[in-house]
Amino acid sequence: MDEVDKIRNEINQVDERILEALANRRKLAEQIIQAKEIAGTPIRDSSREERLLADLITKGRNRGLDAHLVTRVFHEIIDDSIRSQQLHLLDYGKAGLSRVAFQGIQGAYSELAGRKHFAPYLDRTVFTGVETLEQVVNAVEDGDVEYGLLPVENTTAGSMNEVYDLLSVAQLSIVGEEVLRVEHCLLTADDVPLAGIRQIYSHPQALAECMKFVAKLPNCQAMPYADSAMAVKKVSDEKSSGIAAIGSEEAGKLYGLKVLRRNIEDQQNNFTRFLILARKPATIDLRIPCKTSLIMATPHEEGSLLKALSLLHEYKINLTKLESRPIPGMPFQYIFYIDFEGNTAEGRIAEAIEKLRTATTSLKVLGSYPAQHRAKTSPRVEVLAGGAPEVIEEPPEQPAARKEKVGYKLASRDHKPDDTIIDVRGVRIGGPGFVVIAGPCAVESPEQILKCARYVRECGGALLRGGCFKPRTSPYSFQGLGFEGLQMLADAGREYDLPIVTEVLSPADVEPVARYADVLQIGARNMQNFSLLSEAGRSNRPVLLKRGMMSTMDEFLNAAEYILDRGNHQVILCERGIRTFETATRNTLDLGSIPILRRLTHLPILVDPSHAAGRRELVIPLALAAHAVGPHGLIVEMHPEPEKALSDGPQALHFSEFADLMRRIYQG
Ligand code: PEP
Ligand code: MN
Repeated sequence: MDEVDKIRNEINQVDERILEALANRRKLAEQIIQAKEIAGTPIRDSSREERLLADLITKGRNRGLDAHLVTRVFHEIIDDSIRSQQLHLLDYGKAGLSRVAFQGIQGAYSELAGRKHFAPYLDRTVFTGVETLEQVVNAVEDGDVEYGLLPVENTTAGSMNEVYDLLSVAQLSIVGEEVLRVEHCLLTADDVPLAGIRQIYSHPQALAECMKFVAKLPNCQAMPYADSAMAVKKVSDEKSSGIAAIGSEEAGKLYGLKVLRRNIEDQQNNFTRFLILARKPATIDLRIPCKTSLIMATPHEEGSLLKALSLLHEYKINLTKLESRPIPGMPFQYIFYIDFEGNTAEGRIAEAIEKLRTATTSLKVLGSYPAQHRAKTSPRVEVLAGGAPEVIEEPPEQPAARKEKVGYKLASRDHKPDDTIIDVRGVRIGGPGFVVIAGPCAVESPEQILKCARYVRECGGALLRGGCFKPRTSPYSFQGLGFEGLQMLADAGREYDLPIVTEVLSPADVEPVARYADVLQIGARNMQNFSLLSEAGRSNRPVLLKRGMMSTMDEFLNAAEYILDRGNHQVILCERGIRTFETATRNTLDLGSIPILRRLTHLPILVDPSHAAGRRELVIPLALAAHAVGPHGLIVEMHPEPEKALSDGPQALHFSEFADLMRRIYQG
């Protein structure tokens, strides 16, 4: 045996020990649920999870493991233990053989969702494909199957109207939901160039989710078909080189087609939600976090929907979805579909529903079922940054700001007294928290941005920054890698679970960049590019707006107003230094603007010490000074090898300096 074989052998043994440990852990989790059953305590205890993670991260670091790796692995482990505890409390597992109807043939997304949902019982579950969604409902109503699966909404293409209409007449209950990440492939019988494809077959919903991709192909027609897997089968049966299907990789494998392109959906995060229907409502143990769905109609009079919804508010019920559909035969009258968090078995929810009956003309409870989304407990940033937990206090009450005639309205505190908090994939910017956004000035290569992402994550950074379209003073300087760079940034963000922020330079780029970026940056040089501001205002992505280098507070807030006025209420302001007579720094960091802005506006405010300083050795002192004047966070530049950076190298922090900054910020 040579050296490599020996090491591989040892690795195999380690892997087996990991499996054994996982199996042991799962057994213990099952014992816990028995004990909890007696005590009646909820399955999850997030403060215990938080302490557990903090402890594991410290122990992992002592053994040379990344906090991110430890967190990721334990998220999966904790999730598995919650899932197995939930399964223990569900009815599904107690039944014998389950038959499940879905629309389509083998390989359809509905079937994939079904397999995911019933994964623990696949040995006892039989899937039957039927032709239409209505037949799915009929099969359950007639008792031919125990469960039916209906796709109800997609995050790109929206709600399935037909399913909502079926739900209103079906004599069925919702007993579960499943969310499937849908990654569409372009499938063909043989290797043809994209330009050679004349027709693409798929379900209309799948075609809608890939509309932009299909529209870009010359002389190519989208052909709606009953179901995506049937379209795949058709293309496989016909074997003609000009036709293709959009479907899952699994369907492609099943029917012997080649994957010509992967991930052709217009939005990177493309999910479809399915409902699981049964004849009888499920009784779900109160320890499982649930959702409840209902259909209601309100009297045709002013304020009636508001009255119904404020009842839910009164009972502190969190709505997750509200959908309206026309009532057949009654023009311009609507029924409403409502999903909210809670279980009809809870007293509070049952009481709210009874009250709701008095405010509606009809009400049908569709059922309570376990919520698919299980939030992940994150380690506290103080743990990541290596410091002790710190309580950040709300700033004390301030006397009202001086009343002056200003051109902006929506941005002002008068308009909205409470701080705006912007949620970027779970990261909250604004309000009491403090976030640090970091990354290189420009994305330069996959390796460079991955290294930055890993380090930002390790130190407790909240978002990853990286310019792909660079506004350079000289046209001969590096201009950024464009969309290629954006893909690298998105991949790095996904790998390390960090939302990403990148700059857009032109109105035409807003929409394509927003497909990848979680936050759009509008740079100092573009602060008064009104067409860019307006276009960003039509986007639904948060916008990080930097202060122009010669702009007053008033001009800055009016620039934000353009975005707000166009309908996008998610604007983050950023002070990055202004131009003065002083040349010792690249710009002069105007820290006085922070307390002023905090009084004038409800919008979150960040400070960028990097572009203000222009020199690395000034970045940490300026960042610490900025932290002291009360912004909601910082955005800083760092680079694995600042000396080799293609832009803004002199101001980029080395990784060790970034770690030091994080420690000093979060250790207080
Ligand atoms: C940047 O963030 O890389 C940048 C170009 O910033 P500013 O617009 O503040 O100069
Ligand atoms: Mn820069």
